[in-house]
Amino acid sequence: MRIFRFQTDLRAYLSDQRNQGLSIGFVPTMGALHEGHLSLLKTALTQTEIGVVSIFVNPTQFNDTADLEKYPRTPGADIGLLEAAGCQVLYLPDATDVYDGRETATADLGGLDAILEGASRPGHFAGVAQVVGILLDIVQPDKLFMGQKDYQQIQVVNRMLAQRGDGVVLVMCPIVREENGLAMSSRNRRLSAEGRERAGQIYRTLQKAAREAVQKELPVIELESREHLDSQPDFTVDYFSFRHPQTLEPLRHPPADGRMVLVTAVLVEGVRLLDNVLVV
Ligand code: AMP
Repeated sequence: MRIFRFQTDLRAYLSDQRNQGLSIGFVPTMGALHEGHLSLLKTALTQTEIGVVSIFVNPTQFNDTADLEKYPRTPGADIGLLEAAGCQVLYLPDATDVYDGRETATADLGGLDAILEGASRPGHFAGVAQVVGILLDIVQPDKLFMGQKDYQQIQVVNRMLAQRGDGVVLVMCPIVREENGLAMSSRNRRLSAEGRERAGQIYRTLQKAAREAVQKELPVIELESREHLDSQPDFTVDYFSFRHPQTLEPLRHPPADGRMVLVTAVLVEGVRLLDNVLVV
């Protein structure tokens, strides 16, 4: 695996690969890698010839400096995992290399950035869109691989890609879960062993709510699910909500085609955990 610290070197290397006709798949991450991240890389390696992973804890998407400081960083272990998974290229920059003063277009996120995660993390999606834009300019991939786990992020990036118009294909990869159903996340390592076990409730509650959507009123399901999760020790629900799968607007009734996404954010022991299920 080649490791690049500087975008100039990475750009030169990838331009050479592109000139040889090789296709490029890109997996942006913030490190502290787990099976979820590796599944994106594995999918990238089946669909494109060069798998590029970036590890960069992007300061502009954290509205809370304590959260940024507490974000886990495990570069040594990450490099080992990526090597073993067959990654060819790792971009491991520091902030000065990413934000080197080059201009990038700002995307119009059309209000998608102000709801759900955006409501409690102002500026978060503007920061995500900014860094993904810069990374796409550097890597210029054919395909971009991202996880369904961050469903709102997928919709934000989709919108941004449509505006960029450079033909990058976004591939949404399914959520990889721990044995108890908890969606894998770098943040899970901040939970106590007991909290981590009990956080499996989140997925079970999502599944039950999704099953009930054919027979009960959606607001009733939302309320009962919230109450159930809120009643667990050290759980605080931020939202638990049926939404339109693209616009993420709230739904009071299932739409004609029955397609919805059920999204939730729950603080467990003060750690913000996200999960969702698609209802089709
Ligand atoms: P992060 O390092 O948290 O920014 O995540 C980097 C990428 O990995 C994003 O596209 C995430 O959606 C994706 N990802 C994180 N956790 C999972 C998971 N459990 N299953 C699938 N993809 C994931």
